[in-house]
Amino acid sequence: MLAVVAHPDDESFGLGGILAALADQGVPTGLVCFTRGEASTLAGSTHAESPGTGSPQADRPGDPAVIREHELRRAAAVLGIEHVALHDYPDRALRGVDLAPLAGHVLTLVAERHPSHLLVFDQGGVTGHPDHVRSTQAALVAARQAGLPVLAWALPREVASRLNAEFDAEFLGRGPEELDQAVRVPRQRQEDAIACHHSQSADNPVLHRRLELLGDTEHLRLLYHPL
Ligand SMILES: [Zn+2]
Repeated sequence: MLAVVAHPDDESFGLGGILAALADQGVPTGLVCFTRGEASTLAGSTHAESPGTGSPQADRPGDPAVIREHELRRAAAVLGIEHVALHDYPDRALRGVDLAPLAGHVLTLVAERHPSHLLVFDQGGVTGHPDHVRSTQAALVAARQAGLPVLAWALPREVASRLNAEFDAEFLGRGPEELDQAVRVPRQRQEDAIACHHSQSADNPVLHRRLELLGDTEHLRLLYHPL
């Protein structure tokens, strides 16, 4: 299974339960992450609305891009992800990047690691973040070229509705007719991976409420299957 995401922490906050469940079943997993999440402030989140500081990606202590890479690699180890390809596309500006080079990075990993499936955020990005939408679009372009099925992590409509009501959020939910598979996940290990992302997870009530509402179950949609 090759997961394709926009930000360091998406593999944990979003896909972490599913990736840990796969690793437990002996399924080799890998990750393509298009940005280093550098638009995040260290106390805030890359998913916040305020603009980033635009700090250059100098390799110095305190640089969000460096800190977030370390966090990502620790979280990937917790989740049993065997291979991480981290790229330098601009955080919060992925929708301005052509799909061809993004898909090309996925195809490179496909050629090297021979995954049977791609795993992405649901169309619409789940949280509504444009970077998430773009990552899924790129994975779909790659999947069509490689002839691979694409599974999407999706939220049940009732969970999305509760979160939107409680937090004035914009989660996209799916009805039961749109959800293809329920997966029991080792939630504690996802929590352990989330904890590796210190700069993003210290104060994140929406995330913790989402996991509480989902219990030990996540849902997948089949976005694409080659004929
Ligand atoms: Zn994200």
